[in-house]
Amino acid sequence: MKKKRNFETDAIRTQTERTQFLEHSVPLYLTSSFVFEDAEDMRASFAEEKVRNIYSRFSNPNCTEFVEKICQMEGAEDGVAFATGMAAVFSTFAALLKSGDHIVSARSVFGSTHTIYTKIFPKWNITTSYGDVNDIDAWEKLIQPNTKLIYAETPTNPGVDVIDLEKLGALAKKHNLLLIIDNCFATPYLQQPIKYGADLSIHSGTKFIDGQGRVLGGVTVGRADLIKEIYIFSRNTGPALSPFNAWVLSKSLETLSVRMDRHCENALKLAEFLEQNEKVGWVKYPFLKSHPQYEIAKKQMSKGGGVVAFELKGGIEAGRKFLDALKMLSLSANLGDTRTIATHPASTTHSKLSEEERLAAGITPGLVRISAGLENIEDIIADIKQAIG
Ligand SMILES: *Cc1c(COP(=O)(O)O)cnc(C)c1O
Repeated sequence: MKKKRNFETDAIRTQTERTQFLEHSVPLYLTSSFVFEDAEDMRASFAEEKVRNIYSRFSNPNCTEFVEKICQMEGAEDGVAFATGMAAVFSTFAALLKSGDHIVSARSVFGSTHTIYTKIFPKWNITTSYGDVNDIDAWEKLIQPNTKLIYAETPTNPGVDVIDLEKLGALAKKHNLLLIIDNCFATPYLQQPIKYGADLSIHSGTKFIDGQGRVLGGVTVGRADLIKEIYIFSRNTGPALSPFNAWVLSKSLETLSVRMDRHCENALKLAEFLEQNEKVGWVKYPFLKSHPQYEIAKKQMSKGGGVVAFELKGGIEAGRKFLDALKMLSLSANLGDTRTIATHPASTTHSKLSEEERLAAGITPGLVRISAGLENIEDIIADIKQAIG
């Protein structure tokens, strides 16, 4: 799909046809299956001689509409919607990899993605080598004859490191490897990895795309030939997105740009506040000048995103005290919500990693991750200020 219109319009208007009721807003198609006109229609549909809905594990109008919007927003050819972000990550890997293949991945990835590498893929003889997010040039040495793909998140969860997409795109191209980017933290609004040579872009819809902490969902978009493989895997193994969740997520996309503008504005103000606070050891936010990859962030993201990482002087003890002293902020493992959320990754989302693995991925024991919500920034900062003490 070629980009002709602007992003905000692509997030709202699709080619999806109206029903006989001429509804303005796309209705919810809460149906597990669809009927055939006659025996010939049934045969031709299963033979895939026509594009139509058969069964909601295969496709459903709400999922199709959701995917169509994400494709428009990211400049992707096609996509598949999934029940969760992890279903999207796993199904994408499973559809494209075979026994004996090798992955080059950023060391710092979402905890469950890391667990797939360490606990699930070894059973199928799929191996992974880890690259340092601060030294992309060294990744070339990790490539083996059996390397199939390069995988990374940017910004990373939870350390909000930024990876140079242009460099990764060039590296993948040079070695004829697939490049897959988890674009969850940036959202399609702030960053479009396909522009930099990514073959596929993956999202957890659960985060900023829903943005209101209600439903789980995921999506993979990108090259049509790869999406075809991923679709066959999904259609037959069953990680499909529910029509209801697709409907919620598609509606949410319509407000993504205005919500992200505020998330980013609040996160930047919060990061600036933390940087000035003498009890804070360090703070990381892509659009802070002090961020090690500030220039790269400015190049590939239109704003800094909604997540800030920081550590208090006094490490883990000070961090625990801070979390217990919060009055308004939510303690939750989620992010990308209207409500500001504080998380301690070392004891929650990344607890399955060893201490050594965490440190190598930049997850220090006292690291606190804040997902800036849409409350008034003065109230967010007031709560954090009193909790820092
Ligand atoms: C949350 C998250 C996922 C997983 O998404 P779910 O919807 O929870 O399965 C994957 N990648 C990143 C970067 C995430 O933050």
